[in-house]
Amino acid sequence: MKKIIFILLVPIILTSCASSKFTSYEKQIVDHTDNNGRLRVFLVENPSDSLILYKKSKNIKAKASNLALKKFTQDLYNTVLDPDNLGVGIAAPQVGINRKIIWVQRFDKEEKPYELFLNIEILDYSESKKEGKEGCLSVETYSGFVNRSTEITIKYDNFENKKITETISGFTAVIFQHEIDHLNGILFIDRITDKSLLIRQ
Ligand SMILES: [Zn+2]
Repeated sequence: MKKIIFILLVPIILTSCASSKFTSYEKQIVDHTDNNGRLRVFLVENPSDSLILYKKSKNIKAKASNLALKKFTQDLYNTVLDPDNLGVGIAAPQVGINRKIIWVQRFDKEEKPYELFLNIEILDYSESKKEGKEGCLSVETYSGFVNRSTEITIKYDNFENKKITETISGFTAVIFQHEIDHLNGILFIDRITDKSLLIRQ
């Protein structure tokens, strides 16, 4: 009998972990936008913020009917476009939400649009790497040079819950790697092993 209950429960638990809606705690954070519809950017220099920044993110149910998610993605977009603190990408943990949601500016497209990626992960990294200077909206004190793959293959969901695979190269691939690192609780400063190479802002 115990075995049957276990067998019945496992798929339910796995499904709910795989992609759930916002919790009431997350909804509280999402509701705290300023007058411009922007969220507060979490900083690694702040000990309680850094706990969130160093946590791994979970998937989210990628449905257009999920209105809380729709609103949040718009607020996250407003936040990365803040003229006083403009970014080329942003990840949900940077505003306190540990979910796999990022915006990336597509420098590989003509109009350089910002695009949204849900439940994103990297399937493949090129062996060829290049060092480039990086900064982060969540790191006020430092910038520094990070070695990243020049090409990656990503997999993500769109709002129709459709899985999409794409290969990205150049500077845009660097932004993707930086933002997806955020979803794994990694900051660019952690990729620089020799801390004497960090550049003070
Ligand atoms: Zn960052």
